[in-house]
Parts: sequence; structure tokens; C-alpha cells
Amino acid sequence: MTFGAAGMKYADIIVDISHERLDRPFQYRIPPALLEKVIPGVWVKIPFGKGNREIKGYVVSLSERPEIDPARIKDILDIAYGAEAPSAERQMVALAAWMKRHYGGTLIQSLKVVLPVRRAVRIKERKTLCLTVNADEALAKAEAFQKKRAVARARLLTALAENNEIDWALVRDKLNIGQSTVKDLEKLGLLCIKTEKVRRKSVFSPALKEFALNEAQQGIVDSFKRDYALGLRETYLIHGVTGSGKTEVYMEIISEVVRQGRQAIMLIPEIALTFQTVMRFISRFGDRVSYMHSKLSKGERYDQYMRAKEGELDIMIGPRSALFTPFPDLGIIVLDEEHEHSYKAENMPRYHAREVAIERARLSNAAVVLGSATPSVDSFFRAKRGEYRLFTLDKRAAGGVLPVTYVEDLRNELRKGNRSIFSMRLKAMMEDRLNNKQQAMLFLNRRGMAGFVSCRACGRVFKCPHCDVSLSAHRDKRLICHYCGYEEKLQEKCPECGSKYIGTMRAGTEKVEEEVKKLFPSARVLRMDADTTKSKDAYEKILSEFADQKADILVGTQMIVKGHDFPAVTLVGILAADLSLYAADYRAGERTFDLLTQAAGRAGRAELKGEVVIQTYSPEHYSIAAAKKQDYNVFYAEEIAFRKLMEYPPVSHLLKILIEDRSEERANRVAGEIRAVIPDDRDLKLIGPAPDSLAMLKDHYRRAIYVKHADYERLADVKDFIEAWRQGEGGMEASVQFDFDPL
Ligand code: ADP
Ligand code: ZN
Ligand code: ZN
Repeated sequence: MTFGAAGMKYADIIVDISHERLDRPFQYRIPPALLEKVIPGVWVKIPFGKGNREIKGYVVSLSERPEIDPARIKDILDIAYGAEAPSAERQMVALAAWMKRHYGGTLIQSLKVVLPVRRAVRIKERKTLCLTVNADEALAKAEAFQKKRAVARARLLTALAENNEIDWALVRDKLNIGQSTVKDLEKLGLLCIKTEKVRRKSVFSPALKEFALNEAQQGIVDSFKRDYALGLRETYLIHGVTGSGKTEVYMEIISEVVRQGRQAIMLIPEIALTFQTVMRFISRFGDRVSYMHSKLSKGERYDQYMRAKEGELDIMIGPRSALFTPFPDLGIIVLDEEHEHSYKAENMPRYHAREVAIERARLSNAAVVLGSATPSVDSFFRAKRGEYRLFTLDKRAAGGVLPVTYVEDLRNELRKGNRSIFSMRLKAMMEDRLNNKQQAMLFLNRRGMAGFVSCRACGRVFKCPHCDVSLSAHRDKRLICHYCGYEEKLQEKCPECGSKYIGTMRAGTEKVEEEVKKLFPSARVLRMDADTTKSKDAYEKILSEFADQKADILVGTQMIVKGHDFPAVTLVGILAADLSLYAADYRAGERTFDLLTQAAGRAGRAELKGEVVIQTYSPEHYSIAAAKKQDYNVFYAEEIAFRKLMEYPPVSHLLKILIEDRSEERANRVAGEIRAVIPDDRDLKLIGPAPDSLAMLKDHYRRAIYVKHADYERLADVKDFIEAWRQGEGGMEASVQFDFDPL
């Protein structure tokens, strides 16, 4: 294909207005003066609509012939932003088209996700902090600051003692250290700030490793290299327990790809993207590495993308959005913690980074490596089916044993007359830790609090007879299934054991904190949840106080579970494992196993042995039994059997159609219409419409329809059909969103 060639007088343009009715290319004439400049991938200014309002559009293709009467075709006014490198750009446009097909929404919505939005601001200056004293002196000062509770200064000096020179932005974003702290230390003559006007063009020189990979790690790296040399571009899944050395494997694989002159994207969920992780990559790959995070301004993000595009970088580390780094010759994409929910976008298009990574890799002839201690059932299923190559790392690389796990049956506690939120065992263990100056974490999963109803005496949970998910309690004593709309009355007595202790589980972190203080008045307790972390620094402050052992017990929500290392923590208590177990969706079991495993991983990370107490009303549930044994395979076998039986993903695919409107009547009517127009197909299973689990949001009524089919493409057809129907006959009232295999 040639660009701007003579004869190509027309351009097909997607207009920059996200409206379903406009989601098709519009033809414009290219005026002679712009013939060379208008090429696919360029943003242009165009007149639009009756009033010829000037808007922007994105050129997707060129053509010689008009599609309508030439007299009605308007002229392009001007170039809006310059042309981007066409080949990389074409790949990204192809990716956007794929996303539109697979997740729905408009093409412009997808284009906005995959293409860097040009910003005038480009950051030309880079600041680096360097230590002006030697490392020992810095550590001594850090200790002194620590004693004076100047934690930020202490933290910065400690980091500098280890690394000597650190990017200012990294210190700000990942160590959460403000300008005033830096200036103070500069005034004290402990550090200096270097400003570079032009970036160094450094060459790639991998640092020497401190240790050799072990046999299991080397085996993975060798297999990968062999495949890669043969031109095979596979998707690999590394199932490796926490600390088994996955990150070392990623770095080794990336190093091989970079050696061949290609680039790498390393995806890490934001919450796990710590200063230490970024520094590990920087110390190995130097400043050919950069990183992104969600707090970057649009200008900063654009700057990062441009550095990658212009060949200044080999490796980009970051959360979901780093996936769209426009590298000229992408050779590998790694997704660490591939089971994390943050890989799925919350807004249209609701894409999953894992699937998009695989498609992007296909377009640029790259390989994909997925890694996790608790792989998603989706990925493990694919690996077992041979779609992904599976590798296992089952031992901690640097030694150390996994913690001992106890499961405490809360029904027994009730029988013994213990109504406290702590089982006897947990209480005794907390006391022991307090006496021995060790730390404990108490974890309460509130995300799963969907209001399920259970019997406190026998543990029976009220479930939908059709969908096998928990019913949710609503006002006026009704129980509702959010998949199919099934309803029943809340019963007075347990049909199983006759007990009257029936209700929803309610407990909050605040209550837990209160109880701990009542029980152990001298204990120093910190609490971390949405309430205590409203300000930006609060999160980091609580974590560093706990790390500095200024508290004995940290109470918190799932926020405390991920990614943090506290060497003095030897006890983790999970107060009500059932809260996530009976959330009203089919992934509740998976989420519970994942959370319990991650939480358990917090105990005993250093020399001290760790213990974990899981409190539950359902000790026999396979998620809990498998978490106790820390056996992923046991969990998977049970979970996949359930998914097969109920035809839930990954065995089948599920499309959620969410209808939203300010008027309840309209939401219901449009939901009914959509349900009625979906073409008849014996293999297509339709469920609903039913009130969504969030039945009302921001004054909008929400109704959901679920469509099941074994073949994803058939569901994409259903989506296309509904989109086309909405563009044609009515149905444009109410907003409609699509979510494939919702989380
Ligand atoms: P994961 O990513 O699976 O959690 P890491 O790669 O972070 O594991 O490794 C955990 C710890 O073990 C790190 O401190 C790392 O330096 C160390 N480690 C990794 N591989 C080896 C090895 N082959 N020999 C010794 N230590 C290792
Ligand atoms: Zn009962
Ligand atoms: Zn149901």
C-alpha cells in the first residue's frame, strides 16, 4: 500500500464523537494541498453535520472513488495532528477494530484506548536524585530520621543508599515522597538534584546477575528460547508460588528478546507495582526501562509513549494501559499476576488485557508470558486444553517454607458459646504475637459483601435453584437472583436445621478494630480501608508505619493483602472467609481461593515461621479446603467441575447486556425489546432480564440480560446484531453496554 498516492482523492474518516449512530467511516475529499499529508492514522479537522461544525476525525483508509454523489462530499479542512509512524499505527488501528468486535462500543472509543492522545506538553527535562554521601552514612542518617519519626526522609535515604541514583519521578510516584522532603535533604547536603535537558541515549548492557537460575527456572527460560529461535510465538503460563522466582524468569526472557533488538511490555497490576519491582528492572536494564502508572498526566503518558516509539526504550512496565505502548518492534508481552481483576477495563470497551495482549502479540509476531501463584480458572483451563504452554514452579527460590494454615469452624464457636468475632484459636494466637513482639494482620473481605443470607447455626446459604449463586437480600424481605431474576421470600427459620439465626453477614473493619482494642487494650492497632485512605498519602503512611513496627496489628480490607512484605508478620487472621465465598456471582469460589492464598502469603515471609487462621461457616467448601492445603490443583478440579455443570466461563462464554435508564419503565421496556429481538438459536441460552446486582446507580435503573454460548464469536454476533438493530429501528432509548465474561 502506498500512502498519499495520486488517485487517492477520498479519505474514510471516523469522527471524534462517541455515538453509535455515527460509528461508521464518513467519506471526505482530500484537497490537493493535503494530498501528501492525509494518510491513514492521521487526525484531521473536518466540517460535520448541517451547520458544518468543525470537529476532529481519524483517517482509517483512503479510496479513489466516491461512495455517494461527489457533490455531497465535503472537503477536509486541515491536518489536526501530525502523522504517526504508519506501520505501528496500522497495527493499533487493527487492534482497535478487533476490540470493537470483541467488546462492543464504538470504534472511536477503542481507538482512544489504543492510540496515544497527542498532548502539546512534552517533558524535556528529567530530574535525578543522587546521594552525595556514602551509603553507610546515608543509612546512619536514615536511622536517625526514623527515630525522629521523619519517615519520608528515612525512606528516601534508605532507597538512595541502595541505589545511589534514582529518577525523581519514581521517588515521587512509587515512594510517595514530596518535593519538600527532597529539598530538605538537599539543603542538608545529603543529596543533589541533577537536571538533564536532553536524554541520554544509552546502550543496552545487562548487569550481571547475583545468582544462577535454579533448574526449574532455567528449564522455562530454555524452552522459551528454543521456541523463540524457531520462530514459534506461543502463550506461556507460569504457575509459580509466591517467591518462586517468576520475576527472575521474566527478566531473563525479556533480556533474550531485547538482545534480538525487539521490545518488551511488562504488565503488573498497579497495586503490585512497587518501588522495589521497578528498581529491580532498572538495575538490570538501566534507563532502557521506563514505567507508567495511572497517576501520570496525559502529557506524561504521551511522553512515555513517544519515548518508546522513538526507540529510546526497550522495556515498558506498567498496569493495563502500558499494553498500548507503541513500540516499533514488540517482541514479548508479560502479564504478571495474570488473575488480577484490574486487568479488565471498567468502561466501554470492557476489554481484558490478557486477551488484548494475545491479539496484539499476534499482530506484531510477539510471544506472551502469563504468570501467577493462583492462575485464573480461565487461563488454567486454556493451558490444560493446550492453548497455552504450562510451566510450574512449586518451591520458593530463596528457600523458606509456606505458612501453616488452620481453619476454624464458626458454627462450633457458636455452639461453645463464643459470640465474639474471633475464634478461640485466633484470640490465643494474637495474644502470643503481642507477647512475643511479632506482628499480626487481620483481614476482612468487604468487596464480597453482596448481602447474601445464611444460617449462622448450620451455615446453610440461600441460593438460586437455577444458577447456583447466592441470592441477595432486598428490602421487604425478598431474596433475588441477579442472574435470572428468581425471587423468594426470606424465611423465618432455617429449612435445614430450624434455627432462627438467619440473616446477612454484617461486619466492618471499624468494628474489628474496636473489638481488638477491647480485647487487648495495650495493643497498637492500625486500620486500613476505604475510609482511612481517602487522602493520597494515607495509604503509604499506614503501610510504612506498620513496616516500621509502630503498630502490632493491622486490620484491613483486601487492600492489605497484595504485594507488601512485612518481615515481622507471623500471623494472618481471615475473619469471615464466607463474605467473598457467597458473593452473588459465579466467580465467588475463585476469588475466595485467590484471596485466601494471597492473604496466607503475607505470613512468615522472612526467617520467622508464619501461621494463618481462616474463620468460616463453611469449612467443607472446596475453596477453603484447598486454601488450607495450599493446593491449587485441588481447587481447580472442583471449580472447573462446577463451571462445566453450570456452563459458566471458561467452559462456555457469557455476555452481559446492561440496560440503563433514568426511567424504570424505559429500562424495563428496552430490556424486554432486546431480549425479544435476539435471534433464535437453539444453542444460545438467554437469562433475564433481571435487576442488575447494582440495581440502581446514580439514579439510573439497571437491568441485565445474560447470553451464554460455548463459542465467543457467536456472542460477538449477538452484540453486533443488537448494535445494528439499535442503529436502525428505534431502541436507541436507554443506554446499552456489553460485558463479555464479566468479572
Ligand atoms: P516471584 O516473582 O515468583 O514472587 P521473585 O523472582 O521475586 O519471585 O523471587 C523471590 C526471591 O527469590 C527474590 O528475592 C529473588 O531475588 C530470589 N531468587 C529468585 N531466583 C533465585 C535463584 N535462582 N536463586 C536464589 N534466589 C533467587
Ligand atoms: Zn440452619
Ligand atoms: Zn438464578
